[in-house]
Amino acid sequence: MTSSATSSYIFKKLLKLKTEVIPILDVGIMNAKGIWEEVRIKHDKVPWQKLIWFPLHIPKFSVIAWLAILDRLPTRERLLRIGLTINGQCILCNAAFETRNHLFADSIMATSLWNGILHLSLLSLPHMSWENKLTWAYSTWKGKSLLTSIMKIARNAFIYKIWEERNRRMFQGKSRTAEDLLDSIKESVGAQHRNRDFNRLDNVNRLLCNNWNIG
Ligand SMILES: [Zn+2]
Repeated sequence: MTSSATSSYIFKKLLKLKTEVIPILDVGIMNAKGIWEEVRIKHDKVPWQKLIWFPLHIPKFSVIAWLAILDRLPTRERLLRIGLTINGQCILCNAAFETRNHLFADSIMATSLWNGILHLSLLSLPHMSWENKLTWAYSTWKGKSLLTSIMKIARNAFIYKIWEERNRRMFQGKSRTAEDLLDSIKESVGAQHRNRDFNRLDNVNRLLCNNWNIG
């Protein structure tokens, strides 16, 4: 598939990242084509673009987060529906059906990783469903504060890392803990903000820099 002059900004971006993203999707080339086709058709109806595509975004994280928002990641729940698997169990806990909402909001892995992110960002919030968290993020993370920038990148990284972990366990038999994933998110968020221009004298920003290891 190639982009044309009429393709949207996001679709062009997605196409550029295709080779980077297909391995992490862990689907065959035919399925990847199907996923892309659906993204192209459906992306215009989604109002969450600013959470995913913003100046400091990390492209490979954003693509997976975008596909999660569209519920186009090949979760077992979706694969089961189209007859590509007979096993619907979540590989992270072996105790629930693997849906998008379970993987990224309700599972123990998601809850513990998300709480770790909130803690580093000096936030404390009750558990939220996938939809509520998305609505909350969309209405809260506006403007250019350091916290907003950290949380937007961390949220995309959170989705990417959970999806990557799910695939590692499924296809490579390797597993990491929520702490390992948090360390790796911290590394990406920290690196992305190092040498960036923001008010380093502000008290909240100083704490955030310390927690997220931003030099
Ligand atoms: Zn689970």
